[in-house]
Amino acid sequence: MSHTFIIASNNAHKVSEIQLLIGSAFELKTLADIGFTEDIPETGDTLVANALIKARHIYEIYKQNCFADDSGLEIEALDGAPGVYSARYAGEPVNHQKNNEKVLHALLGKSNRNAAFRTVIALIFEGKEFIFEGKIDGKITEQLSGSNGFGYDPIFQPNGYDRCFAEMSLSEKSNISHRGIAVAKLAAFIKNS
Ligand code: IMP
Repeated sequence: MSHTFIIASNNAHKVSEIQLLIGSAFELKTLADIGFTEDIPETGDTLVANALIKARHIYEIYKQNCFADDSGLEIEALDGAPGVYSARYAGEPVNHQKNNEKVLHALLGKSNRNAAFRTVIALIFEGKEFIFEGKIDGKITEQLSGSNGFGYDPIFQPNGYDRCFAEMSLSEKSNISHRGIAVAKLAAFIKNS
């Protein structure tokens, strides 16, 4: 059994969050660590498809255990949008402020503000593919609040809380977040394998 996994990401924050949950017995290598500098095109139309595209791309080249994640915000009144297109909802280049404004505008006058964040992790372990998912339900607020986190954090309030993700510390958010849930499932699998 190999104790090293390539994570198909260079996001230092994601890597340290995942390393913390997985434990020190398993080593994570980022794309930068293995000298991979290409941009992997995310051409899928679902989170699962995109996570698999990234994990398979790396596996085919390096033939080593690896995983990739893809996340998005799904808004009920917008038929699940922005979903897999969350990063670029307001166009290129990625602009979180504009994305938030676009969501608030699209929901003006709508009473249904239900939304969910979802993360999918695709793992290729000893040549086999596994999918782990994490989801958190909440509401889109009427206005932005808080300055922590990133993306849609200032307008997403998880159910059972009176604060947005952007008003929580990273550890408070990670304990309940879509990414935290998916990573915990991945960590449990890796530890038991
Ligand atoms: P990624 O797949 O983790 O890069 O996420 C894609 C996009 O979804 C991000 O650019 C954000 O717009 C949104 N997103 C994903 N996770 C979060 C989160 O935890 N908070 C806020 N926005 C997020």
